[in-house]
Amino acid sequence: MLTARTVPDLRRLVRAWRRAGSSIGVVPTMGALHAGHLSLAAASRKRADRTIVTLFVNPKQFNDPADLDRYPRTEESDRETLAPYGIDLLFAPPPEVMYPAGFATNISVSGVTEGLCGADRPGHFDGVATVVSKLLIQTGADFAFFGEKDYQQLAAIRRMARDLDLPVGIVGCPTVRDPDGLALSSRNALLSPEERACAPALHRALVMAAGRLRNGEDTACLAAAAAEIAAAGFSAVDYVELRDAEDLAPMQRLDRPARLLAAARLGSARLIDNIAVEPAGCD
Ligand code: AMP
Repeated sequence: MLTARTVPDLRRLVRAWRRAGSSIGVVPTMGALHAGHLSLAAASRKRADRTIVTLFVNPKQFNDPADLDRYPRTEESDRETLAPYGIDLLFAPPPEVMYPAGFATNISVSGVTEGLCGADRPGHFDGVATVVSKLLIQTGADFAFFGEKDYQQLAAIRRMARDLDLPVGIVGCPTVRDPDGLALSSRNALLSPEERACAPALHRALVMAAGRLRNGEDTACLAAAAAEIAAAGFSAVDYVELRDAEDLAPMQRLDRPARLLAAARLGSARLIDNIAVEPAGCD
């Protein structure tokens, strides 16, 4: 696995692969890699001839400086984690390569970024859209792989790629979970053993609420899901919401394919999760 830290080095490699007729997949990450990230790398390996994993803790998407400071930075162990997976290139630029002095451009996606995590994290999705657009342009990838775990982010990136005519296929990949249902996340490392024991309640509450919605209840039943999450030991529930699976428009009833999304706070971590919910007869 090669490493590039500058855009010219990255482009030199990409040009050589292009000359050889290879297709290219990219997997953007912030490191602290786990099996969720590796599933994206595996999807890219399957779809493209060459796979680039990017590793960049993007300061622009952290609205809380303390959150940026405590975000795990584990390049050496990430490199070891990736070694058996046949990745061609790790692109790990320092901040000054991504945001040189005088950097003044912001990519902002409206609509799908409103509400949910957008309500609570001002500027977060602008930071994501800006860094992802740069990574897509820098790598010139044919395909880019993102997790459904961050469903609102995936929706924003799809919208951005369409709106900017970026010549890249955006591929969404299923959420990888621990056996007890907890979605893998770099933030799970922040949980104490007691908090880790409470954490699967988030997914459990979504699964229960999805059953009630499928049985014809309206979104009033989501208050019970929020109460279950709080009762399990989460200190605050930011949202539990039913949204259209495509454009994330709020829904009152399950009358078309939807996504049930939640965010809640446990200790110093803010955990998010979501699941697909289809009206009866759709599956
Ligand atoms: P991050 O490093 O947290 O920015 O995540 C990088 C990519 O990995 C994003 O596309 C995430 O949606 C994806 N990802 C994170 N956790 C999971 C998971 N548990 N399952 C699948 N993909 C994930």
